[in-house]
Amino acid sequence: MYHSIKLIEKSEVMKSLHVAPNAFKRQMLILKKLGFRGCSVMDAGNALRSGSTEKLVALTFDDGYINFYNTALPILDAHNFSATVFPVAGLVGKSNVWDTEKNNGISANPLMSWKQLHGCADQGIEIGCHSMSHRSLIDPKTDLESEVVDAKKKLADKLKINIETFCYPYGHYNKNIMNAVSAAGFSSAVTMTRARATDNDDLLQLPRIPITWHTLPHLFLVKLLTTYEDNRRNK
Ligand SMILES: [Zn+2]
Repeated sequence: MYHSIKLIEKSEVMKSLHVAPNAFKRQMLILKKLGFRGCSVMDAGNALRSGSTEKLVALTFDDGYINFYNTALPILDAHNFSATVFPVAGLVGKSNVWDTEKNNGISANPLMSWKQLHGCADQGIEIGCHSMSHRSLIDPKTDLESEVVDAKKKLADKLKINIETFCYPYGHYNKNIMNAVSAAGFSSAVTMTRARATDNDDLLQLPRIPITWHTLPHLFLVKLLTTYEDNRRNK
């Protein structure tokens, strides 16, 4: 699970949202050297369903920042890797207002435009859905229909592609939200539960591995190859 691939100032408050471009480059090289293929959630879901033994790592990028298009995409391309990006349907071409409106010190980071999202899809990147407005879906005031059904429709209509994978904002979900996501026609959904996904996982609550500013190469290897993240599944 990545968010933003960007060099940031020392003063940035939420460093964990960012990974430095050189660190990301090194991480993709590590995957390649170990014989893994970086792929989309849809590819990984198909592999889990079919019992494929290919060494796959699904790469996900929440929020759909412009730095995915400018920085991550060329690096993925160089390795023939795919990925899934999760744009916020109602904020395409804007910025992370869900952070900046809270005045919590998180700086504004521009989000991809429709044209850039089109470009991603043309290059084989899966476009998922990260709700309409990035509100927490467990908040009783949230309009679930708009955040799930309308968001999917908006992305599908604008990009003229199927939108198959949902990403719960803040990793917040419950049974009712899972049912809404499934009823809207999503085939899988990703959470912020930590673990490496296995074929025992429910496709509507796939776990992920957080990769942050602080993930040095040795920790990246430990997260990938050992039970380190699996042991954190329910914490
Ligand atoms: Zn998000």
